[in-house]
Amino acid sequence: MTRKYSSRRRVLVTGGAGFIGSHLCERLLADGCDVLCADNFFTGAKDNIAHLVGNPHFELQRHDVTFPLYVEVDEIYNLACPAAPIHYQFDPVQTTKTSVHGAINMLGLAKRVKAKILQASTSEVYGDPEVHPQVESYWGHVNPIGVRSCYDEGKRCAETLFFDYHRQHGLRIKVARIFNTYGPRMHPNDGRVVSNFIVQALRGEPITVYGDGSQTRSFCYVDDLVDALVRLMATGDEVTGPVNLGNPREFTIRGLAEMVVERTGSKSRIELRPLPSDDPKQRRPDISLARKTLGGWEPTTPLEAGLARTIDYFRGMRAG
Ligand code: NAD
Ligand code: UDP
Ligand code: UDP
Repeated sequence: MTRKYSSRRRVLVTGGAGFIGSHLCERLLADGCDVLCADNFFTGAKDNIAHLVGNPHFELQRHDVTFPLYVEVDEIYNLACPAAPIHYQFDPVQTTKTSVHGAINMLGLAKRVKAKILQASTSEVYGDPEVHPQVESYWGHVNPIGVRSCYDEGKRCAETLFFDYHRQHGLRIKVARIFNTYGPRMHPNDGRVVSNFIVQALRGEPITVYGDGSQTRSFCYVDDLVDALVRLMATGDEVTGPVNLGNPREFTIRGLAEMVVERTGSKSRIELRPLPSDDPKQRRPDISLARKTLGGWEPTTPLEAGLARTIDYFRGMRAG
């Protein structure tokens, strides 16, 4: 992306070919931005953004954020990082590098071009939380040496770097702690609960509930999440976060399984499997801060409606 005389905001989205990133690119284009999507396609796919290629305001660059990137932009959304456990545990050292070196490079870029920069952090910084629902002031309960640590500690270190660049270099930062998000363009084989259950239900295979299914999660539809990210970027410089973004309606995993079976009209039965290690028992965001700072933002898509759209997407994928 070159410097030019235009009133359009030039926005870099790292991880822009991924699930959330592709929806964000779409939204930014609709808002009239010039969008540069940088992705190494580790878990993202060109198919996710194929419909944007050809738009004169959209640019796609194959790039790994663990290497420096020299471009001229006004805003950076740093989403590059595998997010599903099977993906981030595939090459855990690379996962930590992506979070940590990726953050350093993107912060270095933001510093040089004086861009605003937003970090896609995660509810995983709270680990297996002892405070429920989770508030931003809670420091978390994270295992530093477990199989999830490459992701959790990588994201925690990235937050540290964001705040140190803010304090040391005066960078304008925004840290979003994203809770479980779902919707069309989730990876069908990423092992995440919503995509797994829908794919299993559509194939008539057993629905694999880990543990006894009493653990809880709160699911946010991707459009609601993207709206929050855009609003967070637009806040005044005094708003740095961290701010929880998600939907506070909490479900048990067994309840989700039953809902998916019912909504797909599947004959699949529920099968209990062992619980993976360090699996958090409960998770629900306290979104009071987001409600206060993001100009009336509120997740508006109920799980029933979001699931219907996601099921349609996976049905279309099977047919296509
Ligand atoms: P995703 O795997 O679909 O997207 C991640 C994208 O980053 C992919 O396109 C991938 O190819 C790219 N990527 C990975 N490593 C890279 C690297 N080194 N250089 C450049 N690109 C790289 O996952 P997602 O669900 O869209 O998650 C996006 C972001 O949001 C991630 O940072 C994730 O940690 C965060 N997040 C997601 C959730 C969720 O529920 N989906 C929850 C909390 C946080
Ligand atoms: N960097 C980048 N693009 C830029 C400027 C910097 O990718 O436009 C990377 C560069 O690799 C550097 C890192 O960001 O190592 C951190 O930059 P910073 O200026 O903070 O530190 P330094 O250059 O002193 O290491
Ligand atoms: N889970 C499950 N069956 C699956 C996939 C996941 O029961 O096929 C459970 C998993 O053990 C966890 C919850 O669903 O308790 C959410 O898992 P996911 O990997 O989607 O997200 P995270 O654990 O990172 O919140």
